[in-house]
Amino acid sequence: MVRGKVLVVAGSDSGGGAGVQADVKAILAHGAFATTAITALTAQNTTGVHGVHAAPLEFIEAQIEAVVTDLPPDACKTGMLANAATTRAVADAIERHRLTNVVVDTVMLAKGGASLLEAEALEVMRDRLAPLATVITPNVPEAAALLNLSEEEFVMETMATRAKELGKLGCQWVLLKGGHVKDDAEMSVDYLYEANTGRTTTFSSARIDTRHTHGTGCTLASSIAASLAQRYDVPTAVHRAKRYISEAIRTSPGYGAGHGPLNHLP
Ligand code: PLP
Repeated sequence: MVRGKVLVVAGSDSGGGAGVQADVKAILAHGAFATTAITALTAQNTTGVHGVHAAPLEFIEAQIEAVVTDLPPDACKTGMLANAATTRAVADAIERHRLTNVVVDTVMLAKGGASLLEAEALEVMRDRLAPLATVITPNVPEAAALLNLSEEEFVMETMATRAKELGKLGCQWVLLKGGHVKDDAEMSVDYLYEANTGRTTTFSSARIDTRHTHGTGCTLASSIAASLAQRYDVPTAVHRAKRYISEAIRTSPGYGAGHGPLNHLP
């Protein structure tokens, strides 16, 4: 029986590996129901992003309005927001509709380097969207950008300290992902910081030697949102999402010439 409705506000990946397509697959795999407001189309495959076409602002708002008035979300996940105007409109909609269990995946760049968020939108994400988030899920490059630091400056403090600094953006929880930190060849460590208590929990997982990791960020964030929609608490939702993603990477079908998609089947 399906349980919990998640509103995904994100971009489409024609290659089916990341974006809305990954979100819908992951949410379904968690036994929840996915609704979507598509912010941008990308012409994309496993080799990279070949084009981006942002949706008109009014139409993004219309999609959110249509969903919230009939299928009130139990959780909301934001992904690729493309530009400052869309980021602002999404923050406004979250506020206006009092959406709860909001997971903000701080998407900035695709693995191939294509920009999925214009530079001017960074400030809006930091000042307007992050304070509305239950959880933000930055990786190290995104966390550095949110803190106005270069990556060289970022690593001068511990991950635990950086997670705490990100908590000052006003979100309730920060999941700072350690996948980009290559200190440990065997394990990857994520830091979950709760602003309210000042407590940090770590989640370690074995690194999997593969190039098929396209859509991991999207999948992790939407998996967390699916569990929040089902009333799991944040640490449990993160634990379930981490377990899901490890298996999804390990069993990737290996499609395409580049970074292949994950496996969302049990
Ligand atoms: N395409 C879209 C539409 C996305 O939302 C994202 C990530 O959020 C990506 C591509 C990037 O995926 P990855 O960096 O995992 O390849």
